[in-house]
Amino acid sequence: MRLFSEKAPSLLKRSLTPNRPYHAQWLLTRRCNYRCRSCSIWREKQNSEEISTEDVKRGLDVFRKLGVIEVVFSGGNPLLRDDIGEIIDYASRFFITTVYDNGSLAAKRIDALRNVDFVAISLDTLDKEKLDYIKGVPGAWENAIHAIDTLRKEGIPVVISPTISRLNQHEIVDFTKYFISQGIPVLYCLYSYDYQMENQLFGIGKRVDEFEHDDKVALARVCDELIELKTKRQGVFITAKALSALEEYFSSGRRTWRCEALRGFFIVDHLGRVAGCHLRKPTASILELADQWNSEGFEKLRREYSKCQKCTYLCYIVYSLHASILGNIDIIRDQWKNIGLLWSRNRRMTLAVDDMASTKC
Ligand code: SF4
Ligand code: SF4
Repeated sequence: MRLFSEKAPSLLKRSLTPNRPYHAQWLLTRRCNYRCRSCSIWREKQNSEEISTEDVKRGLDVFRKLGVIEVVFSGGNPLLRDDIGEIIDYASRFFITTVYDNGSLAAKRIDALRNVDFVAISLDTLDKEKLDYIKGVPGAWENAIHAIDTLRKEGIPVVISPTISRLNQHEIVDFTKYFISQGIPVLYCLYSYDYQMENQLFGIGKRVDEFEHDDKVALARVCDELIELKTKRQGVFITAKALSALEEYFSSGRRTWRCEALRGFFIVDHLGRVAGCHLRKPTASILELADQWNSEGFEKLRREYSKCQKCTYLCYIVYSLHASILGNIDIIRDQWKNIGLLWSRNRRMTLAVDDMASTKC
């Protein structure tokens, strides 16, 4: 909270700068200790080659030069990197920072997480057996609950990040109500899989039938219910604009957004290569990004990406919808409100397991 409020004036000032990206996601490693059924990352040969700490910091300096506001560290599991604390400490001085964990490492790496704005723990369901099945490792649910409790006791802002798929879409509203009643915001992902593209930067989503969305009407209803919940309670950590766009997409198939890859957001991989999104080919190295950002080559790619409708990764939808200056301010306001929930006086320090059992669907 202290760091967020210290950064807020400069973030707001930066958000008024035209033609700069809002969001950068850095996939710091391909290594992962989980075996999620809908993920390609662990199925590929584990590659321990990674950009150095010093080059990550140089890359973060490039982000500042470009005017980036928010940085998300993911992977793989970024907490497997020994230098994650040093990276977070550096990044959190300038950006709104989020780091993802599958629930297995946050409790062990508390000191590395002291300065991050949000630790996002992937948790898809309150059903223990189902979560262990989805994550492909026994004990995943217990690890996640332990991580959440530990982070709260240590005063580190934690949010829950479920991936909405066929397996959990019917329980997502109750799941949200449960966590916001405990003072924990819920930040959504949407199950998606990669279309094969030539020289794609980073393979993530694997096509798995049992995860695929088969009931668009039900998904539209989930969006409606979350919109309504958001009007009454803090903690639905996605903008109303994004929920409305998703509702429209699920009910009519119409996309009300234009992809803003390489304009409103971009991705960096574990080797420091930059692409508009993880499905596109690398276009520059992070250290040359500032020189390339306004080039004709990048403009050409932006025109191409703006016509693309190949994916429904929720983060790309959100940052496309909010690519304007007013859109950026909308997201910062949403983040501020969720930070407020995390620090509200009535938050509980440990999850109420009895309430959890009664919420299970
Ligand atoms: S989804 Fe995340 S936690 Fe699961 S295997 Fe893939 S990288 Fe690891
Ligand atoms: S729609 Fe945008 S984010 Fe999705 S694959 Fe196309 S260029 Fe990438």
